[in-house]
Amino acid sequence: MMQQSAKRVSRIYPERQQVLHGDATVAAPPSSHTEHETADKTTGEIRTHRVDPDAGITVEGGDKQVYGNKFLSVGVRLADKAHSRVILALESIRHRSQAEDPDREGEGAAFVDMVKYVLTRAPGLRAATYDAALRGKHRAPLIAEGLVVFTPQHSGLKPQSLQRYQKGTCTHDLYVAEARVCERRITIDGQTHYTPLPVEELEYREGKRTRFYHRLTIPCGIKDHTLHIRVDETEDDRQIDPTTGRKRFNRTEHLRQVPPDTPAGRRLKGFRQDSESTHSRFDQSYPHKRVPAYGAKGALLIYIGYAWLNNSVTRALHKSESVAP
Ligand SMILES: [Zn+2]
Repeated sequence: MMQQSAKRVSRIYPERQQVLHGDATVAAPPSSHTEHETADKTTGEIRTHRVDPDAGITVEGGDKQVYGNKFLSVGVRLADKAHSRVILALESIRHRSQAEDPDREGEGAAFVDMVKYVLTRAPGLRAATYDAALRGKHRAPLIAEGLVVFTPQHSGLKPQSLQRYQKGTCTHDLYVAEARVCERRITIDGQTHYTPLPVEELEYREGKRTRFYHRLTIPCGIKDHTLHIRVDETEDDRQIDPTTGRKRFNRTEHLRQVPPDTPAGRRLKGFRQDSESTHSRFDQSYPHKRVPAYGAKGALLIYIGYAWLNNSVTRALHKSESVAP
Protein backbone atom coordinates (compact mmCIF):
# COMPACT_ATOMS: atom_id res chain seq x y z
CA MET A 1 0.00 0.00 0.00
CA MET A 2 0.92 3.67 -0.45
CA GLN A 3 3.53 2.82 -3.06
CA GLN A 4 3.98 4.72 -6.26
CA SER A 5 1.91 2.65 -8.63
CA ALA A 6 3.18 1.47 -11.99
CA LYS A 7 -0.23 2.21 -13.43
CA ARG A 8 -0.39 5.77 -14.70
CA VAL A 9 -3.52 7.02 -13.05
CA SER A 10 -5.01 10.48 -13.03
CA ARG A 11 -4.38 12.55 -9.92
CA ILE A 12 -8.10 12.97 -9.43
CA TYR A 13 -8.68 9.20 -9.63
CA PRO A 14 -5.97 7.81 -7.34
CA GLU A 15 -6.01 4.12 -6.48
CA ARG A 16 -7.65 3.23 -3.19
CA GLN A 17 -4.42 2.24 -1.45
CA GLN A 18 -2.85 5.62 -2.28
CA VAL A 19 -5.51 7.57 -0.39
CA LEU A 20 -5.42 8.25 3.34
CA HIS A 21 -8.69 8.57 5.18
CA GLY A 22 -9.06 10.25 8.53
CA ASP A 23 -11.70 11.16 11.08
CA ALA A 24 -12.13 12.16 14.69
CA THR A 25 -14.27 10.31 17.19
CA VAL A 26 -15.41 10.87 20.74
CA ALA A 27 -14.97 7.73 22.83
CA ALA A 28 -17.10 7.33 25.94
CA PRO A 29 -15.24 6.95 29.25
CA PRO A 30 -16.23 4.20 31.73
CA SER A 31 -18.55 6.58 33.56
CA SER A 32 -20.72 9.45 32.33
CA HIS A 33 -20.62 11.23 35.67
CA THR A 34 -19.41 14.81 35.58
CA GLU A 35 -19.82 15.50 39.34
CA HIS A 36 -17.75 13.77 42.03
CA GLU A 37 -20.68 13.85 44.46
CA THR A 38 -24.41 13.74 43.87
CA ALA A 39 -27.28 13.85 46.37
CA ASP A 40 -30.22 11.47 45.98
CA LYS A 41 -33.30 13.58 45.27
CA THR A 42 -35.61 11.77 47.75
CA THR A 43 -33.32 10.50 50.51
CA GLY A 44 -30.59 13.15 50.32
CA GLU A 45 -27.98 10.42 50.45
CA ILE A 46 -24.59 11.58 49.12
CA ARG A 47 -23.02 9.30 46.55
CA THR A 48 -19.47 9.62 45.29
CA HIS A 49 -18.50 8.95 41.67
CA ARG A 50 -15.38 8.57 39.65
CA VAL A 51 -15.15 11.25 36.96
CA ASP A 52 -12.98 11.07 33.86
CA PRO A 53 -10.52 13.96 34.32
CA ASP A 54 -10.23 14.76 30.60
CA ALA A 55 -13.64 13.99 29.12
CA GLY A 56 -15.88 16.77 27.95
CA ILE A 57 -18.92 17.52 25.84
CA THR A 58 -18.31 17.83 22.12
CA VAL A 59 -20.73 18.56 19.32
CA GLU A 60 -20.65 15.84 16.67
CA GLY A 61 -22.22 15.93 13.24
CA GLY A 62 -23.41 19.50 13.62
CA ASP A 63 -25.87 19.16 16.51
CA LYS A 64 -25.40 15.91 18.47
CA GLN A 65 -23.79 16.36 21.91
CA VAL A 66 -21.48 13.58 22.99
CA TYR A 67 -19.44 13.15 26.17
CA GLY A 68 -15.96 11.66 26.16
CA ASN A 69 -12.39 12.01 24.95
CA LYS A 70 -11.63 12.92 21.37
CA PHE A 71 -9.33 10.90 19.14
CA LEU A 72 -8.14 11.21 15.59
CA SER A 73 -7.19 8.27 13.41
CA VAL A 74 -5.67 8.05 9.95
CA GLY A 75 -5.72 4.87 7.88
CA VAL A 76 -5.49 3.30 4.48
CA ARG A 77 -6.93 0.17 2.86
CA LEU A 78 -6.99 -1.91 -0.29
CA ALA A 79 -9.87 -1.62 -2.74
CA ASP A 80 -12.47 -4.41 -2.54
CA LYS A 81 -10.59 -6.47 0.04
CA ALA A 82 -12.17 -7.23 3.38
CA HIS A 83 -10.00 -6.83 6.50
CA SER A 84 -7.34 -4.84 4.65
CA ARG A 85 -7.54 -1.69 6.76
CA VAL A 86 -4.36 -0.39 8.39
CA ILE A 87 -4.52 2.27 11.10
CA LEU A 88 -1.42 4.38 10.47
CA ALA A 89 -1.64 7.05 13.14
CA LEU A 90 -3.65 7.85 16.26
CA GLU A 91 -3.69 10.87 18.49
CA SER A 92 -5.60 12.22 21.44
CA ILE A 93 -6.81 15.68 20.43
CA ARG A 94 -8.12 18.83 22.07
CA HIS A 95 -11.87 19.30 22.43
CA ARG A 96 -11.76 22.40 24.60
CA SER A 97 -10.34 25.86 23.95
CA GLN A 98 -6.59 26.20 23.52
CA ALA A 99 -6.38 28.12 26.82
CA GLU A 100 -7.97 25.21 28.71
CA ASP A 101 -5.87 22.55 26.97
CA PRO A 102 -2.62 24.10 25.71
CA ASP A 103 -0.72 20.84 25.16
CA ARG A 104 -2.88 19.04 22.62
CA GLU A 105 -3.69 20.07 19.08
CA GLY A 106 -7.10 20.71 17.62
CA GLU A 107 -8.55 18.36 15.02
CA GLY A 108 -7.41 20.09 11.80
CA ALA A 109 -3.85 20.85 12.92
CA ALA A 110 -3.42 17.33 14.32
CA PHE A 111 -4.56 15.80 11.02
CA VAL A 112 -2.09 17.96 9.05
CA ASP A 113 0.81 16.86 11.30
CA MET A 114 -0.13 13.20 11.06
CA VAL A 115 -0.42 13.20 7.29
CA LYS A 116 2.88 15.07 6.93
CA TYR A 117 4.51 12.46 9.12
CA VAL A 118 3.04 9.57 7.14
CA LEU A 119 4.27 11.26 3.93
CA THR A 120 7.87 11.19 5.18
CA ARG A 121 7.57 7.38 5.29
CA ALA A 122 5.29 6.89 2.29
CA PRO A 123 6.12 9.42 -0.42
CA GLY A 124 3.94 7.53 -2.94
CA LEU A 125 0.73 8.74 -1.31
CA ARG A 126 -1.54 10.63 -3.64
CA ALA A 127 -4.51 11.92 -1.69
CA ALA A 128 -6.13 12.39 1.70
CA THR A 129 -9.82 12.58 2.50
CA TYR A 130 -11.57 14.02 5.54
CA ASP A 131 -14.88 15.57 6.56
CA ALA A 132 -15.96 19.22 6.60
CA ALA A 133 -14.01 19.87 9.84
CA LEU A 134 -10.93 20.31 7.66
CA ARG A 135 -10.85 23.86 6.34
CA GLY A 136 -8.84 25.68 3.68
CA LYS A 137 -6.04 26.63 6.06
CA HIS A 138 -5.49 22.92 6.83
CA ARG A 139 -5.75 21.82 3.22
CA ALA A 140 -3.16 24.39 2.02
CA PRO A 141 -0.04 22.83 3.64
CA LEU A 142 -1.00 19.31 2.49
CA ILE A 143 -1.67 20.46 -1.07
CA ALA A 144 1.77 22.14 -1.00
CA GLU A 145 3.20 18.69 -0.17
CA GLY A 146 1.75 17.35 -3.41
CA LEU A 147 -1.46 15.71 -2.19
CA VAL A 148 -4.96 15.98 -3.49
CA VAL A 149 -6.99 16.83 -0.38
CA PHE A 150 -10.65 16.03 -0.61
CA THR A 151 -13.35 17.14 1.86
CA PRO A 152 -16.98 18.14 1.40
CA GLN A 153 -17.31 21.88 0.97
CA HIS A 154 -18.28 23.97 3.98
CA SER A 155 -21.75 25.37 3.42
CA GLY A 156 -22.52 29.07 3.45
CA LEU A 157 -19.45 30.34 1.59
CA LYS A 158 -20.24 33.39 -0.53
CA PRO A 159 -19.05 33.58 -4.16
CA GLN A 160 -15.67 35.30 -4.46
CA SER A 161 -14.52 37.45 -7.32
CA LEU A 162 -11.46 35.81 -8.90
CA GLN A 163 -10.45 37.74 -12.01
CA ARG A 164 -11.72 39.37 -15.17
CA TYR A 165 -10.62 37.50 -18.26
CA GLN A 166 -10.05 39.84 -21.18
CA LYS A 167 -8.96 38.96 -24.68
CA GLY A 168 -9.63 41.09 -27.74
CA THR A 169 -13.19 42.31 -27.47
CA CYS A 170 -14.10 39.55 -24.98
CA THR A 171 -14.68 40.02 -21.29
CA HIS A 172 -15.58 37.19 -18.92
CA ASP A 173 -16.08 37.77 -15.19
CA LEU A 174 -14.73 34.80 -13.27
CA TYR A 175 -15.87 33.99 -9.75
CA VAL A 176 -15.34 31.11 -7.35
CA ALA A 177 -18.66 29.58 -6.29
CA GLU A 178 -19.58 26.06 -5.18
CA ALA A 179 -15.86 25.27 -4.79
CA ARG A 180 -14.99 25.87 -8.46
CA VAL A 181 -14.40 28.57 -11.04
CA CYS A 182 -17.59 29.93 -12.55
CA GLU A 183 -18.45 32.62 -15.04
CA ARG A 184 -20.80 35.24 -13.64
CA ARG A 185 -23.70 36.07 -15.86
CA ILE A 186 -26.66 38.33 -15.36
CA THR A 187 -29.89 36.74 -16.46
CA ILE A 188 -32.61 38.56 -18.41
CA ASP A 189 -34.55 39.26 -15.21
CA GLY A 190 -31.50 40.75 -13.52
CA GLN A 191 -30.51 37.71 -11.42
CA THR A 192 -26.85 36.78 -10.92
CA HIS A 193 -26.06 33.30 -12.19
CA TYR A 194 -22.78 31.44 -11.80
CA THR A 195 -22.06 28.95 -14.57
CA PRO A 196 -19.39 26.37 -13.62
CA LEU A 197 -16.55 26.24 -16.14
CA PRO A 198 -15.54 22.80 -17.40
CA VAL A 199 -12.25 21.60 -15.83
CA GLU A 200 -10.27 19.76 -18.49
CA GLU A 201 -7.55 18.61 -16.16
CA LEU A 202 -5.96 19.00 -12.73
CA GLU A 203 -2.35 19.79 -13.64
CA TYR A 204 0.50 19.16 -11.26
CA ARG A 205 3.89 20.83 -11.19
CA GLU A 206 6.53 19.72 -8.76
CA GLY A 207 8.77 22.15 -6.96
CA LYS A 208 9.65 23.23 -3.43
CA ARG A 209 5.94 23.72 -3.00
CA THR A 210 3.91 21.63 -5.42
CA ARG A 211 1.56 23.64 -7.62
CA PHE A 212 -1.81 22.49 -8.85
CA TYR A 213 -3.74 24.12 -11.67
CA HIS A 214 -7.15 23.69 -13.18
CA ARG A 215 -6.99 23.81 -16.94
CA LEU A 216 -10.32 25.43 -17.75
CA THR A 217 -12.33 26.23 -20.80
CA ILE A 218 -14.46 29.33 -21.03
CA PRO A 219 -17.12 28.49 -23.58
CA CYS A 220 -17.49 31.58 -25.76
CA GLY A 221 -19.51 32.60 -28.82
CA ILE A 222 -16.41 34.02 -30.49
CA LYS A 223 -13.88 31.32 -29.67
CA ASP A 224 -13.51 29.09 -26.59
CA HIS A 225 -10.73 30.23 -24.29
CA THR A 226 -8.37 28.02 -22.30
CA LEU A 227 -6.76 29.20 -19.09
CA HIS A 228 -4.94 27.89 -16.04
CA ILE A 229 -6.00 28.76 -12.51
CA ARG A 230 -3.91 27.86 -9.46
CA VAL A 231 -5.81 25.72 -6.93
CA ASP A 232 -3.04 25.67 -4.33
CA GLU A 233 -2.27 28.68 -2.13
CA THR A 234 -0.09 31.23 -3.95
CA GLU A 235 2.47 33.61 -2.54
CA ASP A 236 0.15 36.46 -3.42
CA ASP A 237 -2.79 34.83 -1.58
CA ARG A 238 -0.74 34.75 1.61
CA GLN A 239 -0.05 38.50 1.62
CA ILE A 240 -2.03 40.33 4.27
CA ASP A 241 -4.56 42.76 2.91
CA PRO A 242 -4.03 46.02 4.90
CA THR A 243 -7.73 46.94 4.76
CA THR A 244 -9.01 43.67 6.28
CA GLY A 245 -5.94 42.44 8.16
CA ARG A 246 -6.50 39.01 6.60
CA LYS A 247 -4.89 36.98 3.84
CA ARG A 248 -5.76 38.38 0.43
CA PHE A 249 -7.51 35.26 -0.77
CA ASN A 250 -8.24 32.10 1.16
CA ARG A 251 -7.92 30.14 -2.06
CA THR A 252 -7.86 26.61 -0.67
CA GLU A 253 -11.04 27.35 1.30
CA HIS A 254 -13.03 28.47 -1.74
CA LEU A 255 -11.43 26.77 -4.70
CA ARG A 256 -11.01 23.02 -4.59
CA GLN A 257 -8.69 20.68 -6.48
CA VAL A 258 -11.56 18.24 -6.87
CA PRO A 259 -14.91 20.03 -6.50
CA PRO A 260 -17.20 17.98 -4.24
CA ASP A 261 -20.17 17.57 -6.53
CA THR A 262 -18.33 15.79 -9.34
CA PRO A 263 -17.88 12.07 -10.10
CA ALA A 264 -14.25 12.18 -8.84
CA GLY A 265 -15.38 14.05 -5.72
CA ARG A 266 -18.13 11.56 -4.92
CA ARG A 267 -15.68 8.70 -5.31
CA LEU A 268 -13.16 10.27 -2.89
CA LYS A 269 -15.94 11.13 -0.44
CA GLY A 270 -16.87 7.45 -0.33
CA PHE A 271 -13.34 6.54 0.77
CA ARG A 272 -13.69 8.51 3.98
CA GLN A 273 -16.47 6.25 5.25
CA ASP A 274 -13.83 3.72 6.19
CA SER A 275 -12.77 5.93 9.10
CA GLU A 276 -16.26 5.84 10.54
CA SER A 277 -16.15 2.10 10.28
CA THR A 278 -12.80 2.06 12.16
CA HIS A 279 -14.33 4.05 15.01
CA SER A 280 -17.53 2.09 15.05
CA ARG A 281 -15.59 -1.20 15.38
CA PHE A 282 -13.50 0.35 18.14
CA ASP A 283 -16.63 1.39 20.07
CA GLN A 284 -18.18 -2.06 19.66
CA SER A 285 -15.08 -3.78 21.02
CA TYR A 286 -15.84 -2.85 24.61
CA PRO A 287 -18.82 -3.53 26.90
CA HIS A 288 -21.49 -0.81 26.69
CA LYS A 289 -19.33 0.90 24.02
CA ARG A 290 -17.20 2.45 26.75
CA VAL A 291 -13.41 2.56 26.68
CA PRO A 292 -12.23 0.74 29.83
CA ALA A 293 -9.83 3.46 31.01
CA TYR A 294 -10.09 6.83 32.70
CA GLY A 295 -8.35 9.85 31.21
CA ALA A 296 -7.32 10.67 27.63
CA LYS A 297 -3.90 9.00 27.95
CA GLY A 298 -5.32 5.75 29.25
CA ALA A 299 -7.97 5.71 26.53
CA LEU A 300 -5.33 6.40 23.88
CA LEU A 301 -3.34 3.42 25.12
CA ILE A 302 -6.44 1.22 24.78
CA TYR A 303 -6.95 2.58 21.26
CA ILE A 304 -3.34 1.83 20.31
CA GLY A 305 -3.95 -1.75 21.45
CA TYR A 306 -7.03 -1.90 19.26
CA ALA A 307 -5.06 -0.56 16.26
CA TRP A 308 -2.33 -3.10 16.87
CA LEU A 309 -4.88 -5.93 16.75
CA ASN A 310 -6.62 -4.47 13.69
CA ASN A 311 -3.33 -4.14 11.81
CA SER A 312 -2.23 -7.63 12.83
CA VAL A 313 -5.42 -9.09 11.31
CA THR A 314 -4.70 -7.22 8.07
CA ARG A 315 -1.11 -8.42 8.07
CA ALA A 316 -2.06 -12.03 8.70
CA LEU A 317 -4.69 -12.10 5.96
CA HIS A 318 -2.85 -10.13 3.29
CA LYS A 319 0.80 -10.87 3.99
CA SER A 320 1.41 -12.58 0.68
CA GLU A 321 -0.42 -10.03 -1.40
CA SER A 322 1.25 -7.19 -3.12
CA VAL A 323 -0.44 -4.42 -5.05
CA ALA A 324 2.76 -3.58 -6.90
CA PRO A 325 3.16 -5.49 -10.16
ZN1 LIG B 1 -14.79 35.14 -25.04
